[in-house]
Amino acid sequence: MKAITLLGSTGSIGTQTLDIVAQYPEQFRIVGLTAGRNVKLLAQQIRQFKPEIVAICDEDKLQELQEAIADIDPQPILLAGESGVVEVAKYGDAEAVVTGIVGCAGLLPTIAAIEAGKDIALANKETLIAGGPVVNPLIEKYGVKVLPADSEHSAIFQCLQGLPAGGLRRIILTASGGSFRDLPIDKLAGVTVADALKHPNWSMGQKITIDSATLMNKGLEVIEAHYLFGMDYDDIDIVIHPQSIIHSLIELQDTSVLAQLGWPDMRLPLLYALSWPERIPTDWPKLDLVKSGDLTFREPDHKKYPCMQLAYAAGRAGGSMPAVLNAANEQAVALFLDEKITFLDIPKLIEQVCDKHQADNCESPGLEDILAADQWARLEVLAGSVELGDPLRGLR
Ligand code: NAD
Ligand code: MG
Repeated sequence: MKAITLLGSTGSIGTQTLDIVAQYPEQFRIVGLTAGRNVKLLAQQIRQFKPEIVAICDEDKLQELQEAIADIDPQPILLAGESGVVEVAKYGDAEAVVTGIVGCAGLLPTIAAIEAGKDIALANKETLIAGGPVVNPLIEKYGVKVLPADSEHSAIFQCLQGLPAGGLRRIILTASGGSFRDLPIDKLAGVTVADALKHPNWSMGQKITIDSATLMNKGLEVIEAHYLFGMDYDDIDIVIHPQSIIHSLIELQDTSVLAQLGWPDMRLPLLYALSWPERIPTDWPKLDLVKSGDLTFREPDHKKYPCMQLAYAAGRAGGSMPAVLNAANEQAVALFLDEKITFLDIPKLIEQVCDKHQADNCESPGLEDILAADQWARLEVLAGSVELGDPLRGLR
């Protein structure tokens, strides 16, 4: 039985991970849980999965959580705040930590888990994108495994099994195209938050759903692939595949191409990240290629979606630039969700902030440099958004 700790248990990745644990009680046991502020759901999860330790990030919610689980025996250790989340990440005999936190908030807990010798089932891509130059050497130093849970990176990882070193030539990431893939470019100026949150194929948290609509998600995944698989940016391509059946592909030195296919269901990459190298039998719906219908592909439209090229440029610049890109994106998406800026302001603000960071890009950043770059970029976006003026211009 594998002991696991789950960060971000109340989110989309978190609840799907717990579905797997509930379905395979012989295989998996929960040691620790953390969540942001959803007391009701967290309390239910504590009741069902009986973790030894729990943290709620929002300290104001601790008392409510204590009251909600007062009748449970034995009581888990209850912690609060960011430091509480870090404690849970490194606690006890958990072999693997699933990182289902959204955003760069996952960085310090992930580092703590690595330093405690735990394998990482990596859903929280922002951690590796911002922290790659610090996280990768730590993975090496502590000899832990990072098992990708992002569907594209899981697909690549699955295709890579058994491939001799030097065999890989190119990575091809597939992208659904997000909420606006069939909307003409001149209509993007007027889209609303509700429009952007309607993803055609996947049901996910709000931030990644907006990232999918801007295609920044794919740009972030290019950087994620670079840090996970050590590939040059010239050898990582994107293709739009609206059906989300092929989860990504690899091209080998002899031009052979391998792909991993499945229904769009995050439980599959999550299960593999937890069971690797084993394959656990499931009763989940089998892929039916006749039912799934035509599989089609198109070129990504960089004019309509500038975020992909912003991400390639930040990745190539390296150093602290990916941390700046990531933080600028997190802040811009938060402002968009808050209806403080328009959809098209998102890439504009990110580009401004990345341009401004060029002269100060720190080539080999340490953790402090990355955290400082992250903070700086968020403040720059906030300042830039004020300069944009009336957020609803053009929407009236
Ligand atoms: P979500 O918003 O549904 O859930 C986020 C979880 O993190 C929640 O439990 C929330 O309480 C917690 N959280 C939020 N802010 C926090 C903070 N500051 N400190 C501690 N905890 C905090 O997000 P999600 O869609 O589950 O995505 C989680 C991560 O997985 C993201 O990095 C995303 O890019 C990645 N991912 C998600 C999917 C998906 O299908 N949802 C697919 C691929 C990758
Ligand atoms: Mg993905």
